[in-house]
Amino acid sequence: MLNNRYDLHIHSNYSDSKSTVQEIVRRAITINLETVGVADHFWPSLGSRPGGKNLIEKRRREIESARVEFPSLVILDSAEVDIQSDGSLAPVAGGLEQFDIIIGSFHWVSDSTQWVSTLSKVIKKKQFHILGHWDGYLSSYKEEDGDLAAQALAGAGIAIELNERYMLEHTHFIERAKEYDCIFTLGSDSHSVETIGQLDYGKKIASDFDLEVVEPSFFL
Ligand SMILES: [Zn+2]
Ligand SMILES: [Zn+2]
Repeated sequence: MLNNRYDLHIHSNYSDSKSTVQEIVRRAITINLETVGVADHFWPSLGSRPGGKNLIEKRRREIESARVEFPSLVILDSAEVDIQSDGSLAPVAGGLEQFDIIIGSFHWVSDSTQWVSTLSKVIKKKQFHILGHWDGYLSSYKEEDGDLAAQALAGAGIAIELNERYMLEHTHFIERAKEYDCIFTLGSDSHSVETIGQLDYGKKIASDFDLEVVEPSFFL
């Protein structure tokens, strides 16, 4: 089993989880994580709450004080942003550049042809680092679409997330992504304190398929 000590996909009470930043950080230290990515949805992304820039800045102040209080833990100020059907990322108040890491995710159902066409457009804008739960909303899968998607992600250096909440259905894509030398990351997609750092499923997939799982420093 891999021994990566990070979780890059954790929601807080600034979006659709109950966990506070303090609770996330304390839990991460208890289970010996080295890096956490607090990755909330921000308005108008699905699962977000209105509040715009004020909400983002309030969360940032909490993250900054947690960094001072717990200097041994790397706490990333991240966001999970919707990939929209027109091939853009949802706007976020204050811009995307303010975050350490952006996870771009589909939160609407599409077949693989629409998926890869949208993905190809959004990838060109180079605004995100990780493709979240890549097949979580796929209604069908064609091998030629998976091949194109893997090639585009590899070319752009965008990491594919092995997500703990969505079971892998299309192993063909993973095999092709490996052949194209795509990189992978791990994320629990935690919405509660207990699930922070739960990465066994992603680690198993990474081991089974011998995937290159990168460390958070790759993005920073
Ligand atoms: Zn998501
Ligand atoms: Zn999420």
